[in-house]
Amino acid sequence: MILDDFPDLPDFPPGEVWLTGAGPGDPRLLTVLAVHALSIADDVVHDALVDERVLTLARKGAELISAGKRGGRPSPQQRDINEVLIERARMGRRVLRLKGGDPFVFGRGWDEASALTAAGVRFRIIPGLTSGLAAAALVGIPATSRDTNHAVVLAAGHRAEEGKSAADWAALAKLGQPILLYMPMTQLPEIAAALEAGGLPGDTPAALIQAATTGEERVVESRLASLADDAVAHGVGSPAIVVIGAIAALRRPLLSGLVPWR
Ligand code: SAH
Repeated sequence: MILDDFPDLPDFPPGEVWLTGAGPGDPRLLTVLAVHALSIADDVVHDALVDERVLTLARKGAELISAGKRGGRPSPQQRDINEVLIERARMGRRVLRLKGGDPFVFGRGWDEASALTAAGVRFRIIPGLTSGLAAAALVGIPATSRDTNHAVVLAAGHRAEEGKSAADWAALAKLGQPILLYMPMTQLPEIAAALEAGGLPGDTPAALIQAATTGEERVVESRLASLADDAVAHGVGSPAIVVIGAIAALRRPLLSGLVPWR
């Protein structure tokens, strides 16, 4: 395997936790460090979003521990997940904490890093390809292009923490910069309406990208005003990224040359 010759791969000492991004799904989009960690770890503590195909790359004999947090289903509390990481590390296990996308983008990675710090457990952070940017790029939507935008907003469609105020959609509408919306499905009608009320034209290009890089992948092109209806009409489900902004229209001109990802 190429990893045998890869320079400078770090040791994974017993008792360390590696907080690692698994990318959007397809194992070919893992980082070299993530594959390295999978080949060594004693425990793989993974989220529901982490693709089965990635988990099959774990070392034979590694223990796979599901810490699935998924909207709407019963899931372990963050505190319990932190406990598992700390306990396993203290047992002298090499703990790979595997999260979908990037661990520090809507992934509670920082919370886990702080809990580990407080417990005196050493850890590494290994970034992953965040699904918003990856899903868009794979289907031909650039995060930025010179003619359309000089900034891009990564936004969460729902706040996991109850009691926190909702995002200020009107302020984001006024920015006039494209939005990559994570966890969009539960509140899509409200968010689209709030962006329109905030001044973003109803004919602003938009796209829904469902389950990028998996067998369930689907792209639906839309406009801000019809986004919520189109999502229902096409039966778009989680996980999905919604792209809102001029960049969403830049896909079309590429389609004749773009080789399908899978
Ligand atoms: N840390 C992750 C995001 C976790 S929040 C990252 O950096 O990507 C979970 C959300 O990620 C989902 O609701 C969805 O919006 C998005 N997501 C994750 N995997 C996806 C995929 N393969 N295709 C589309 N969206 C995905």
